[in-house]
Amino acid sequence: MKTLCAVLLLLSASAFSADNLPFEEVAPGVYVHVGRIADLFETDRDPVSNITFIVGDNAVAVIDTGGSRRAGEAILASIREVTPLPIRYVINTHVHADHNFGNQAFLGENPEFIAHHLYPGDFAAKSGYYLNRLTQPWFEGTQPVAATRTVESETMIDLGNRRLILTAQPRAHTRHDLTVFDPQTDTLITGDLLFVDHLPRSMAACSVGWLSPIP
Ligand SMILES: [Zn+2]
Repeated sequence: MKTLCAVLLLLSASAFSADNLPFEEVAPGVYVHVGRIADLFETDRDPVSNITFIVGDNAVAVIDTGGSRRAGEAILASIREVTPLPIRYVINTHVHADHNFGNQAFLGENPEFIAHHLYPGDFAAKSGYYLNRLTQPWFEGTQPVAATRTVESETMIDLGNRRLILTAQPRAHTRHDLTVFDPQTDTLITGDLLFVDHLPRSMAACSVGWLSPIP
């Protein structure tokens, strides 16, 4: 059975510590933090999206990074409690800020930032809007970090005896949804192509596509 995982700071250390986030190992080497159900623009805490990291023999991949540098730092701290392996890949499932504005925290790891091939243009167009709307204290100092590699249709990354399949999906929640499949555990990370217990506040592309089964 496939396990479905629906899955923006120069803060001074004294302002916010890089507390870690609770992650559950839902399958061997697959760790998930379930985000709170809340509107990113109204919440007093981040993250509000699900976050996953997958550990191979040689490297780690992070799928989505929360909505702030603070969230990204907490994710990084949680990963370091599990493994010292290098974080070679940061994968952003789509452009909504709660899924990628934590990228900044991973710059020191020098990973590839991977997204759908239609992501960069939308990211460049929307980042300023998100920066203007996100004024909460936890967002302070966050700076957007763009993708450095894109997926045209499908590609594979290797974490060391663990290959992940990245698939650029048709228009659905956005026009640039990217899914991640781990064949080793039959785990599919869907980003916002799957919601449980609530509906998305933002549908940026095609509701019919979103309701369709994931190819
Ligand atoms: Zn979304």
